[in-house]
Amino acid sequence: MRIALYPGSFDPVTFGHLDIIERSAKIFDRLFVGVLVNSVKTPLFSMEERVRMISVLIKGLKNVEVRSFSGLTVDYARSLGATVIVRGLRAVTDFEYELQLSQTNKVMAADIDTVFLTTNLKYSYLSSSTVKEIASYGGDIRPFVPENVIREIHRKLGTDFIAE
Ligand code: ADP
Repeated sequence: MRIALYPGSFDPVTFGHLDIIERSAKIFDRLFVGVLVNSVKTPLFSMEERVRMISVLIKGLKNVEVRSFSGLTVDYARSLGATVIVRGLRAVTDFEYELQLSQTNKVMAADIDTVFLTTNLKYSYLSSSTVKEIASYGGDIRPFVPENVIREIHRKLGTDFIAE
């Protein structure tokens, strides 16, 4: 059984993340989406909120579970029995950071490999921070995040939800 861990901040989850989740779920027998608690970035959403938003969206994916974690990703992967860490690659700007991260993880845990999925072209420009910035200026974020996430963002920012 191939178990994979897709770790990240998911602050909040976007269509780009969801695309990686759906594609990974087809490749691996079991996929854990790991929401990182001790990120250096100060998140907009609490760990519980980030987990809840993802859990609504993965309901139809029977082999996918969302959990939160803190500490080293490789330690958490081991505790789940995962031998693969999944990461998404958008542009070259992601590459240097992701390469360094995966090589560092490989030194710490030789039994775990990082697998990169290149982003769906539709979402190659998309990041959680862009979505938050657009929402804060009252922009329409429907092309970027699902409806449950739109509602949560507007609730958090105290801005209006743009309905159809
Ligand atoms: P982190 O803070 O760990 O980078 P993120 O939540 O920003 O966490 O991203 C988690 C993973 O998803 C990273 O591998 C990132 O490159 C990837 N990712 C983020 N946005 C997209 C996207 N639009 N398309 C594909 N992968 C993405």
